[in-house]
Amino acid sequence: MGHSESKLHTDPSAYATPFVPELTSIVSDATKSKWRSYDYVIVGGGTAGCVLASRLSEDRNSTVLLLEAGESNEGKLFSRIPLAFERMLGSAHDWRYRTTPQEELHERTVEYPRGKLLGGTSSINAMIYQQCDPEDFDAWERQGASGWGSSTMEKYFQKMRKDGPKIATDLDLAPISKAFIEAAEQLGIPRKKDFNTSAGVVGAGAFHGAVDEKHDRSSTATSYLRPEVRQRPNLTIGVSVYTDRVLFTSGAGGSLRAVGVQVSTSRSGPKFAVGAIREVLMCGGVFGSPQMLLLSGVGPSQHLQELQIPVVRDLPAVGHGLLDHFCPGTIVFRARAGWTWDDVTQSQAHAGWALLRWLLFGTGPMSALCGQAAVFTPNIRSFRSLPYGPELPVKDMFSGPKAPDIEYLVFPMGIIDYGHGFPPRGNYGVSVGAILLKPSSTGTVKLRTSSVYDAPLIDGNFLADKSDLNALTKAVRLLLHLVRTPPLSEALDLRNYATKPENEDYYWIGDADPDKVSDEDIEAFIRKYGQSATHPTSSARMGTDPETSAVNPQLCVHGIQGLRVVDASVFPDQLSGHPCVPVIAVAERAADLIKGVA
Ligand SMILES: Cc1cc2nc3c(=O)[nH]c(=O)nc-3n(C[C@H](O)[C@H](O)[C@H](O)COP(=O)(O)OP(=O)(O)OC[C@H]3O[C@@H](n4cnc5c(N)ncnc54)[C@H](O)[C@@H]3O)c2cc1C
Repeated sequence: MGHSESKLHTDPSAYATPFVPELTSIVSDATKSKWRSYDYVIVGGGTAGCVLASRLSEDRNSTVLLLEAGESNEGKLFSRIPLAFERMLGSAHDWRYRTTPQEELHERTVEYPRGKLLGGTSSINAMIYQQCDPEDFDAWERQGASGWGSSTMEKYFQKMRKDGPKIATDLDLAPISKAFIEAAEQLGIPRKKDFNTSAGVVGAGAFHGAVDEKHDRSSTATSYLRPEVRQRPNLTIGVSVYTDRVLFTSGAGGSLRAVGVQVSTSRSGPKFAVGAIREVLMCGGVFGSPQMLLLSGVGPSQHLQELQIPVVRDLPAVGHGLLDHFCPGTIVFRARAGWTWDDVTQSQAHAGWALLRWLLFGTGPMSALCGQAAVFTPNIRSFRSLPYGPELPVKDMFSGPKAPDIEYLVFPMGIIDYGHGFPPRGNYGVSVGAILLKPSSTGTVKLRTSSVYDAPLIDGNFLADKSDLNALTKAVRLLLHLVRTPPLSEALDLRNYATKPENEDYYWIGDADPDKVSDEDIEAFIRKYGQSATHPTSSARMGTDPETSAVNPQLCVHGIQGLRVVDASVFPDQLSGHPCVPVIAVAERAADLIKGVA
């Protein structure tokens, strides 16, 4: 058993060993024996990392060190308020990544928010609670992720209901969100009471939220790392500390073992080492985990050599196969007064009153989700009765015959550019994200430099496969029909332009006539405004073949002992929904795998 203590630490000398000079990636047994050591070192105190820290420290004979680059989640007001989650984006608690210029988007770079605080992205996200479609996990299993099928995942979805984020099932809905659900029903899409059942997700309904009984955010930091868990003597938490890389020993026959990590608090500041007696658990998220693996010499050898990083293990799949939900921004539809919640974003008096209501009573619009309701449509290929418009070639990417491939996510107000802007006062709108759930295009995560302090190069490679653009074009056309269906049409004040009028941008493409607008006009809109729906996965995917996957179905990095990856980067494929709850379930099962009880 290793060293043990409790509390949150900002100074690594409280839990790690200072060292000079710089270590090589492969260290000797004599060197590592001098380090302070813990049974488990968890890198990244995000969504998955907090789950592991909590579950592994349940065994009082095991010592656990959790290392997080950001600050504590405590005292961050805007992280707590459901409707105000967008205030966290672009803040000091967001990594504020951007993609490289995207060829199919007129060389625009695309924003990539990620949480940088305890709880990680579960501390800044939109709090939509969704288990996704059972067929997603059966598809994972078919792709080689044995043991991760829907029946096993269901067991962990149930387990996390006890200690994981609280679920609010009765959150307020704006009138426009209700009208959206009713219009979808009119169009022939079934109403859904609960997106978290074995019946799958196709349908129209309101989301449940990861929100507690006081109407505060319920993240993995607030749920799994409750005060009594943080006080466990065998759990140590270091915050505001970057993990630079993993350190290894090399044994007989060249066998490799992860034995610890190097950490620091600034680019040029002192370095520390900390030992892992049993395992290093990489939970840095879809960009952080591949970045740290690459910095440790684990990844495609050619890329590592370009940066003069000694190759510890050549693994081509590290940083490759990135998948994301892509959408044409939020499409804003002109609404009539009284249906939306624009007042909260446009009037300081309304916002102040809403904040006061939330602070005093936990009620009012601030206690509700921003992305309130959704329509998950049956896949484009098989459900031809919906008005998707002219035939365009689209690949069959869906997880199974009952799974969707498009989601329409509804925000009951006008939102521009991730909430960085709102329409001027007196303009009302409903914003809808038309999200491509199962893209064909894959991207990459590579190193910019050999320092963890330089953001990685993220190339979403969005729309590289024309099938993705075609699917979204059809999805936008269907949306234009959907909003012209009663009772939603009565709440909106739409024009029906065949082409884009001069000086009109904000309400275009919502004002386009679905029967007259050309595919080319829709495509132009998608290329101009398209962005990530912020659900990237699969940058260190799970599988059996070390040529095409980074970790095996036990989540162990191929060819290295004592090193697992546990976060959204191991997903073998994209999900037909929102990924946070599945990340938590993956971490729950990972904890059982590590304990040997899965
Ligand atoms: C704006 C936004 C809204 C979203 N809304 C929803 C939603 O409503 N519902 C839903 O299901 N999903 C949502 N998601 C997605 C979901 O939250 C994420 O997919 C999920 O939380 C990712 O979990 P993770 O454990 O893989 O990574 P993260 O939670 O991002 O954890 C990674 C952690 O590692 C830390 N880290 C990284 N590098 C280092 C380093 N070098 N050293 C130390 N620490 C490091 C990070 O600071 C972070 O805490 C949203 C995402 C965003 C960005």
